[in-house]
Amino acid sequence: MKMILLGPPGVGKGTQAQILSREYRIPQISTGDILRSAIQAGSELGKRANQYMSKGELVPDEIMLGLIRERLFGDNPPEGYILDGFPRTLVQAEALNQLFAENKTRLDIVLLLDADEELILKRLSSRRVCRKCKAVYNLLTQPPAVDGICDKCGGPLYQRDDDKIETIQNRLAVYRRQTEPLINFYKSINLLKTVDSSGNPREVHQNIMKQLGGN
Ligand code: AMP
Repeated sequence: MKMILLGPPGVGKGTQAQILSREYRIPQISTGDILRSAIQAGSELGKRANQYMSKGELVPDEIMLGLIRERLFGDNPPEGYILDGFPRTLVQAEALNQLFAENKTRLDIVLLLDADEELILKRLSSRRVCRKCKAVYNLLTQPPAVDGICDKCGGPLYQRDDDKIETIQNRLAVYRRQTEPLINFYKSINLLKTVDSSGNPREVHQNIMKQLGGN
């Protein structure tokens, strides 16, 4: 199964990708996580990416395409996966299609996670992430048992720099301008299914399974 989770920042793509990854036993490939690890490691990629990420801007397409080509079609290419946060521009989506064609494979489905902006703003500003295992929490709806500590691995929780309110607003504007056009792109090639993502993670997961079951 090769799927893309599409939707605005904070809609729950990461949370749902983690659940689906366990259920289908396929990796979650989050370009945001890959870039954040590169920043933490202090690599050249991390340094370049951070100039954009810290402002809520998109990292240039050629960097992202190099990274995804390596991850999906390099050594040991995974058979199935959940793409979380890629593609984010039409250039990326078209290049990805091209890569699929060249490698004689194809995408199974694109799930558009949908929720209104007010809810998204609330979710993003209360999001906390485990620095070690990347598990995602929400102080309002899904707090950890012990303040600041990951339930799953005991790692420290932190707030992403780009989850601060001014950056969030920019990320939403960037989404509307650069990523929303992908909805029509994937609709036009009959891969898009929309999932109501305004509920809690379990409800959203059930909505996803309905779409996958009917596929
Ligand atoms: P995310 O964790 O998916 O919200 O991504 C965090 C940040 O990483 C984004 O705001 C972008 O700066 C960068 N990023 C992640 N994926 C991409 C992508 N496919 N294209 C461009 N920038 C990306």
